[in-house]
Amino acid sequence: MNSPLYIEVAVPFPVYNTYIYKVSEQYADLIAPGVRVFVPFGSKRTTGYVLGFANKKEFKGKILSILDMLDAKPIFPKSMLPFFRWASDYYIYPIGEVIKTALPKKIDFYEQTFFSITDAGKKFIKNNKNLSTKKKILNALIKKDLTIKGLQAKSGASVPASLLYSMEKQGFLEKYSEIKGKSSFKRKIQKDRLGEKIIRDVPYPLTKEQTDVVEHINASLFNGFKTFLLAGVTGSGKTEVYMNIAARVIEKGLSVILLVPEISLMSQVERRFKARFGETVAVLHSSLAAGEKYFEWMKILNKKAKIAIGARSALFAPFDNLGAVIVDEEHDTSYKDSGGFGYNAKDLASVRAKLANAIALLGSATPSVASYYNVISSKYTGLYLKERVKKRALPNVEIIDMRKKRDLKGINKFITPELKLAIADNLKLKKQTLLFLNRRGFANLSICAQCASPLRCKQCDISLTLHQKDNVYRCHLCGYFQSANAVCNVCGNRSIKKLGFGTEKIEAVISKLFPNAKTIRIDKDATKKKGSLVTLLKRIKNKKADIIIGTQMIAKGHDFPDITLVGIICADISLNFPDFRAGEQTFQLLAQVAGRAGRGDLKGRVILQTFNPAHFAILSAKEQDFIKFYNQDIVFRKGLNYPPFSRLIQIKIESKNKEKAAKTAYSIGKLCKNLMKKTAKDSIEILGPVESPIAKIASMFRWQILVKGTNSSTLRLFANKLFFDNQKAFKVSGVKATIDVDPIFMM
Ligand code: ADP
Ligand code: ZN
Repeated sequence: MNSPLYIEVAVPFPVYNTYIYKVSEQYADLIAPGVRVFVPFGSKRTTGYVLGFANKKEFKGKILSILDMLDAKPIFPKSMLPFFRWASDYYIYPIGEVIKTALPKKIDFYEQTFFSITDAGKKFIKNNKNLSTKKKILNALIKKDLTIKGLQAKSGASVPASLLYSMEKQGFLEKYSEIKGKSSFKRKIQKDRLGEKIIRDVPYPLTKEQTDVVEHINASLFNGFKTFLLAGVTGSGKTEVYMNIAARVIEKGLSVILLVPEISLMSQVERRFKARFGETVAVLHSSLAAGEKYFEWMKILNKKAKIAIGARSALFAPFDNLGAVIVDEEHDTSYKDSGGFGYNAKDLASVRAKLANAIALLGSATPSVASYYNVISSKYTGLYLKERVKKRALPNVEIIDMRKKRDLKGINKFITPELKLAIADNLKLKKQTLLFLNRRGFANLSICAQCASPLRCKQCDISLTLHQKDNVYRCHLCGYFQSANAVCNVCGNRSIKKLGFGTEKIEAVISKLFPNAKTIRIDKDATKKKGSLVTLLKRIKNKKADIIIGTQMIAKGHDFPDITLVGIICADISLNFPDFRAGEQTFQLLAQVAGRAGRGDLKGRVILQTFNPAHFAILSAKEQDFIKFYNQDIVFRKGLNYPPFSRLIQIKIESKNKEKAAKTAYSIGKLCKNLMKKTAKDSIEILGPVESPIAKIASMFRWQILVKGTNSSTLRLFANKLFFDNQKAFKVSGVKATIDVDPIFMM
C-alpha cells in the first residue's frame, strides 16, 4: 500500500487559513487541485476546494480524512490558483470564500463517475469461484451502476480507484460520467435581449483609426502581459476593435474574457459578440438560472467555449489559456463588488491577465481618472479613437443655465421653454426624444406644511420619496414604505408639501405638455414586473415611443439609433455628493447620456439643464472630452492627496445597537492610530472614525474609518497587521466590522 496522500483544502468560511486533510486510497487517483471535496470541519461538514497536495510534516496535530469527493474532474483549472491567492491576499478575504464567489452560484450540480459491468465482467464472475475483491466489486455492479462511493458501500470491500482502473483496462467494467444535481435544468436557446434570434454577422472593414489601434495591440499580442486603455468617443467603433482582437486570440487557440457592466438584460455588446462568434461564446450573467450558469461554466471548462462574456464575475471564467481580458465601459462602478469580497473586476482584470501572460484591454468613452493616470504614468498604454464611425458628428450640447430660471413657475421649472421647444420640434420630425433624470419617483422631498419636518424612513437616515401611482412614500435604500395618506411623524399634521421631482413626475408633466406623443418611462419602478423591460425596449425599437423618460438604466448598454434629442433634466444631482469621485461620476454619466443622441445617421442634439453651468464636469461632458475633465480633476485629487495619488481602505462598522457601533468604531480607530504611530507615521493617514454620510441604513447604525496610504504595498501591510493582530476588536458580537480595499461607495 502507498503512503497516504495529504491535500491542502480551502473552506468557504470566514477563516484565513487553509487546512490539510488525508485522502483515503479509493480517491487517490482522482484527487487533484480544483476538485471539490466534502470534509469534516469543526462540528460541521462542508464543501472544500482542493488547492494542492501537501506535506504532512508541515502540520502538527490530528489530520482528518475527507468524507467524499464531489467532482470527478477539477471544476476550475489549477492555473487559476495563484489568481485566487492574489485576490484573497489583496482584498483581505478568505480564499475559500473567494473561490466560492468565483464558482457559479448554487452549484448543487456535479459530475459523477459511474461504473458498469461488461459482458467480460459477467464472465469473470461465472469463471471465478473464490470471492476476491474483484469479484465482490463486479457482483455489486450486477444490479445497477455505481459510483466509487456506492461500490464501497455495496461490495463490502475497500475499493481503491487504481483497482477499478485496472479492471477497466482488463475490460471487466466501463465508466461514464453523469451530471447529478438537486434539480434538473434546461438549456435555453440563445436569443437577444428583445427575444429575437441572433443572426451571424461578418466583420466590417476597419476604419483607419480602428486599424491603427488594432495593429498597435496586435504587436503586443502573445508577447507577454500588457494593459491597454482604449479611449474612444461614443460610437467610435470600440466594440468592433474588441471583436477584431478576440478573433485573433481565438485563431491562435487561446481564449478571451469580455467583461460588460451589470445591466438587467443582455447588452448590445454581448449581442454583437454572439452574432460574430456564435457557439464559441459562453455567457456568465447574473440573470442566468443556476443550471444555465453551470452549463456555461462547463462549456468553458470543457473547452467548448473560447470567449466568456459577462458582468463582474465572468472574470473568474475557468480558462487556462487566456490570451486577452477585455473590459468594456471600464469606468463603470458596477465592476466593484459591494458585498463582502469587495473586489473590483476592472482592477483584477489586469492581475488575471498578468498571471496568464495575456493582455488586458480596457475601453471606454469616459475612462476613469485612475486608468488614465496609469496611462500618464506609463503603466498602461493609451490608444484613442477620436471620431465616430462614418464621420458621424458628435451631438451638439446646449447648456441651459437654471440659475436664470428661478422665477419660472410650475412645469417650466423642470421643462424649460428651450427644452419644450426642442421636444416639439423633434416630435414634428417624427424622431425619438430621450429625457434623462437620475432620480425615480414623483417627489423626493416631502415636508410637513406645519412643522417643516421632512418625512423620513423609519429605518434609514434619508427622506422618503413619494410614488404617486402606488400611492406610497418609499425609501430608496431599504424598501420601507408607508401610505401616501400618512400624517407628519412629528406633529401629526395632515398637509404635506411635495417638493422635488423624479422620473414619475416628469412623465406626468410630459403627458400634459404633449398629450398626443407616445411616452414611456424606463426606471426601476416601471420595470419591476418580469418581462416589462423587454416590452418597453421593443416599443422603442419599433418606434412605438416618441418620448422616453428614464434613469441611468437607459444610459447603459442599449443602442437606440433613432434618438436624435436628449434632454438632461437636472445635471447636478450627483455633483454635490460628499465623495471625491462626485465630479468624475457626474462627468461620466452626462457624457454617456449625451452620447446616446445621434448614433444613427442624423445628427444629435442635447439640451443640458444645470445649476452649475461653469463646472468643469459639465463643460467637459458638453464636449465629450475626458482629457479636459481629467486635467482639472487630477489637480484637485493631488491637492487633497486622494487616489490615484494615494490608496484607500475603508473600515466599515455597522450595528443595530447605536452605542456598540460607535464604541467599536472608536476602539478600532484607536488601534489604527497606534499602529500608524508605531509603524507608518509618514506613509499612513487615518481619517475618522466618523458616522457615515448616511448614518443609518435598514436599522443598522454606520460608522467608518478611512485609511490613506502613500502606496498600495504599505497600505496592504498596514491593513493586514491591523486586521490579523486585532481579531478581537473586529469580532465584537452584534457588530459587523469589514475592510473595503479601494472603496468606491463611500456614503
Ligand atoms: P462604440 O462601441 O465605440 O460605441 P460601436 O462599436 O458600437 O462603437 O460602433 C458604432 C456603430 O458603428 C455601430 O453601429 C457599428 O456597427 C458601426 N461600425 C463600427 N465599426 C465600423 C466600421 N469599421 N465600418 C462600418 N461601421 C462600423
Ligand atoms: Zn429605509
